[in-house]
Amino acid sequence: MDDRPAATAVERAAAFAAELAPRAAEFDRTEHLPREVIEQMADAGFLGATVPIEWGGLGLSPLAYGDLTEVIGKACASTRALLTVHTSLVAETLADRASRRIKEKYLRDLASGRRIACFALSEADAGSDAASMSTRYLRKGDAFVLDGHKKWISFAGIADVFLVFATDNGVISAFLVDRDTPGVEIRPMSGMLGNRATHMAEVVFSAVEVPAENLVSGIGAGFAFVVNPALFRGRYSIAWAGVAIAQAALEEMCTHAARREQFGSRIGSFQLVQKMIADAVTQVSAARELCRRAGRLRVERSPEAVAATNVAKYFSSTVAARVTSDAVQVLGGNGCWNGFPAERLFREAKILEIIEGTSQVQQTLIADFGLTTFARKG
Ligand SMILES: Cc1cc2nc3c(=O)[nH]c(=O)nc-3n(C[C@H](O)[C@H](O)[C@H](O)COP(=O)(O)OP(=O)(O)OC[C@H]3O[C@@H](n4cnc5c(N)ncnc54)[C@H](O)[C@@H]3O)c2cc1C
Repeated sequence: MDDRPAATAVERAAAFAAELAPRAAEFDRTEHLPREVIEQMADAGFLGATVPIEWGGLGLSPLAYGDLTEVIGKACASTRALLTVHTSLVAETLADRASRRIKEKYLRDLASGRRIACFALSEADAGSDAASMSTRYLRKGDAFVLDGHKKWISFAGIADVFLVFATDNGVISAFLVDRDTPGVEIRPMSGMLGNRATHMAEVVFSAVEVPAENLVSGIGAGFAFVVNPALFRGRYSIAWAGVAIAQAALEEMCTHAARREQFGSRIGSFQLVQKMIADAVTQVSAARELCRRAGRLRVERSPEAVAATNVAKYFSSTVAARVTSDAVQVLGGNGCWNGFPAERLFREAKILEIIEGTSQVQQTLIADFGLTTFARKG
């Protein structure tokens, strides 16, 4: 794979991130990601970062995409979330799993950012156990009719197209639903701990007719062939998001510890503060290497890539939560105040332990992998 386009994409992302970072607090406070930021992402090609070039994307490798995600995620978690949802969960999954007809209809527009996508899986009563969803579909002639209620859907407030999962007596299928289809109702949500500028909404489907051609990967393929591959990609993105937030918190912590004086000395000279810094440096480096390992295994199409991604996501989100907590500690009162980024990073990090499979779900998956891989036979 030619890495030159990747290098320039990551360089362009760094320039974009430098302008983005000073605005992240405002997006968080106003719970609003401005349209012009999304357009900048689209114009730079970031929204199609991993979509193959033949479908209008940048065709970045997972490793380059990881770098790009870290750079943007360090500047603004809500902006990075658009990459996770639109690019990783939806566009990349359609590039891999959808029919040529669906790709012709949607993928170029998603890669260019002309249309924004969201991923509608969770419901009020179906989170970790997403397969227990109650949103239903029924075949009706040349269409499917959807009824149900999705919750916590990032970017549903502005998305043009929804990748929706529904069940017919336990047979789960995936559908692409256009926002303007009659019967689609968007109910914006606010008051979230983090990811506040992600235009989150509930989405209600009342007798929504979806053309049969918008079925993704066939009847009953919704979980094994669409949800699981999508979450594999989403978790990879979240793993890098953890590195991004932890790195940002590490820089806040070190900058403050190097300047702040108490008891006549820089607080960075106190060994108890140094322990937090040493742990943060070590953990961020380890998290980044686990993400790179997952990326390399994805490039090699190794069957171990799934387990490596779960490990990276679990570790990296845990590290982000720990390092941001220590950053708040090192900043003291300033760490508890929104005049400094540490408190926002602390809130954003916690989200990563919940989304794309909670830490407990990751632990369960990793333990299953351990038991099947490392238990001696006989
Ligand atoms: C900021 C944010 C953005 C989101 N964006 C989207 C989106 O775009 N699209 C979408 O579809 N969803 C989205 N979600 C929903 C998210 O995927 C769910 O919140 C997540 O899957 C957890 O489900 P839950 O909230 O129902 O928690 P639950 O599943 O009810 O879990 C509650 C607790 O029980 C634990 N638990 C559950 N099952 C087990 C088990 N078997 N073993 C051990 N512990 C267990 C969990 O780890 C957790 O600690 C978003 C959520 C947030 C917070």
